[in-house]
Amino acid sequence: MDSAISLTFPEPDVAALTFDLPGKGANILSQAVLAELSAHLDALVKRTDLAGLVIRSGKPGIFIAGADIREFVAHQDAKREWTVEMCHRGRKLLQRLSHCPFVTVALIDGVSLGGGTELALWCDRRIMSTSPKAQIGLPEVKLGLYPGWGGTARLPRIVGLSNAVEMICGGETIDGKAAAAMGLVQAAVPSERLEQAAIDLIRAEHKTRDYVKDRQRWSGAIDISDTELYFLGATASAYVQQQTKGRYPAPLAALEMMLEAARMDIEAACQKEAEGMAELFGSPVNRALINVFFLTDRNKKDPGVAGDVKPAPVRSLSVCGAGLMGTGIAAIAVKREIPVILTDVNPAALDKGVAAIIEEASYNKAVKGPDAQRALKYAPLVHPTASDADLAKADLVLEAIVENPDVKKKLFARLEPLLSADAILASNTSTIPIARLAADLKRPDRFCGIHFFNPVRKMPLVEVIRGPKTSDQTVATAVAFVKAIGKTPIAVNDGPGFMVNRMLVAYMNEALELLLDGAAMKDIEKAATSFGMPVGPLTLYDMVGIDTAFYCGGVMYEAFPDRCSPSPLLVQMLKKQRLGQKVGLGFYKYALQAGKEGAKGEPDPDFDALVKPHIRSGKPPTKEEMTSRLFLPMLLEATRILEDKIVRDVRDVDLGLIFGLGFPPFKGGLCFWADTLGAAKVLEMLKPFEKLGARFQPTPMLLGMARTGKKFYA
Ligand code: NAD
Repeated sequence: MDSAISLTFPEPDVAALTFDLPGKGANILSQAVLAELSAHLDALVKRTDLAGLVIRSGKPGIFIAGADIREFVAHQDAKREWTVEMCHRGRKLLQRLSHCPFVTVALIDGVSLGGGTELALWCDRRIMSTSPKAQIGLPEVKLGLYPGWGGTARLPRIVGLSNAVEMICGGETIDGKAAAAMGLVQAAVPSERLEQAAIDLIRAEHKTRDYVKDRQRWSGAIDISDTELYFLGATASAYVQQQTKGRYPAPLAALEMMLEAARMDIEAACQKEAEGMAELFGSPVNRALINVFFLTDRNKKDPGVAGDVKPAPVRSLSVCGAGLMGTGIAAIAVKREIPVILTDVNPAALDKGVAAIIEEASYNKAVKGPDAQRALKYAPLVHPTASDADLAKADLVLEAIVENPDVKKKLFARLEPLLSADAILASNTSTIPIARLAADLKRPDRFCGIHFFNPVRKMPLVEVIRGPKTSDQTVATAVAFVKAIGKTPIAVNDGPGFMVNRMLVAYMNEALELLLDGAAMKDIEKAATSFGMPVGPLTLYDMVGIDTAFYCGGVMYEAFPDRCSPSPLLVQMLKKQRLGQKVGLGFYKYALQAGKEGAKGEPDPDFDALVKPHIRSGKPPTKEEMTSRLFLPMLLEATRILEDKIVRDVRDVDLGLIFGLGFPPFKGGLCFWADTLGAAKVLEMLKPFEKLGARFQPTPMLLGMARTGKKFYA
């Protein structure tokens, strides 16, 4: 293998180790790279002519992305001694950077994560660049772990326990300015001044000998009073428990370990860290979160098509329909500085839509409101129009009008002849098959679905739907566009409900069945949220809108009449105009902030009266039955989606549900969760419900898996 680390000398007495893993976009600390680092240190510490060592990256925008997760995964079933030993080995190597006979300085001019940050922490000093790409963090908790190469011991000694707890338990990255403010780095300077700043620092340290004093200080216990320690423990623990709801053990484990190790010297603290790591490594949540990491990693590299197709640039976007979805999509594009041409059949909706886009795009989290500066910047990018010719000028024309195939087809018939030869026409339809929408198009090859999820601002997933005649070029361009606006695209094949809504309808339909079988609304919601869903299915109905849900359901009732039928409840709700949050009335009553996202619903006695006549006689389902009845139909639908080849890979199903519906990441995905049970167990769980009809009948795929012991994930 070509070497990953090169040694140079920016000055005769200053060495530089530059990490640049050949053939990879990022530097990672694999065993081979660590061995190389070890060999370099062996040679360098023997020299008596060095004043300093600089560690830096040769890759633009990245310092070191962390340890090699694939290497770890191979040992997930190993005994705890393996984990403890792996932690010690890695830590002892990096720790050598704090014992060298010269000053060691990490230069961070890009993303520094996990093991990369631990390497920087073991250096005597760190300098970051002010580039927005330079971010430093210890995100191990997002994998169900905590830093295991001494990070939990070294960081609090450098920046104080409170800052360290926040960084390690939160897992978020910070930029150079914030890192300098907390003393994590000595300075944040422009990229081009990094090397000189490091050399100046090395010279200064030789005069002051401060680094020697710090070596001594950081090898002992943390200087913190009993009161401070107690107070930090109480507040941080309450916060972590509230954030994780007991589902993600790593942040709390990290906190408790750091509090207990605060009074120990660094060796004992590192020992404790390694032992604690063995409890987390290979745990069910760790395995699930590592699966999510791999799902995301695979998706980033997936162009959506098999061949080598170059996506066309999308420099402008037209959005037809200035409603809930159209404005959300336009705001995301405008934020990425893509100009948007907007239309709506209703002029009032168009005016409202323009205002909504600017408000949404210029929203500033820090002040919890619109930012005037940003509004001035984005407003010129939004162009309302009533002219088809204007709309047809964009590289991508996306329709988000009413969910009615005839109305959508009429719009396409008007627009298609006006489009430029390379432009793409797309629909944000939730359920209508792309083949049906494309039936009368002259150029169905440049038509596809680009299906965003509600609320657009929050949900990362976008399904790119390939119709039977959609070209690879169109799919590749749509996938690249979605990535360019910061969302997560999954390319799926055409079919009723595509991928996510096909599973969602199975789940939401069952929530209504449970209601009719006498289950209390709060118990149905609780069954879903206890499983880990962000909201219950009835609240979700109100968020989506009862009319939209009904139309979407209609497509599914038509396609799969054996397992899905229109609920009398939805029909009643439509009649009574209980359309959900947007009108302040649905399954719940929304007294305040009606129509606003996140509005809190209250039980409504009028709704109880509406349900009552429809309730079937018999014993209401138990809590366990409710959980099974909600999630097993969803899983069966996933197997049908795989059988019908709607997706190319089971990983798309799991990623789609996590990013589109908020399926709990700590379960690793729906199919990943099913694998933890095993197909035979799933069949056993289905048995009591088979009498309820086709929606609970095991599919050929599941039966085959139970017979052969095969899993979704090989
Ligand atoms: P909406 O009712 O909020 O907005 C639709 C807008 O389209 C309205 O302003 C309406 O005046 C306008 N319109 C209707 N016919 C038109 C025409 N011929 N030309 C121009 N404008 C026209 O609806 P929405 O929730 O934004 O849904 C829009 C599309 O997005 C639908 O296809 C829906 O299935 C899909 N979708 C909705 C959701 C959701 O949760 N609401 C999620 C994903 C996809």
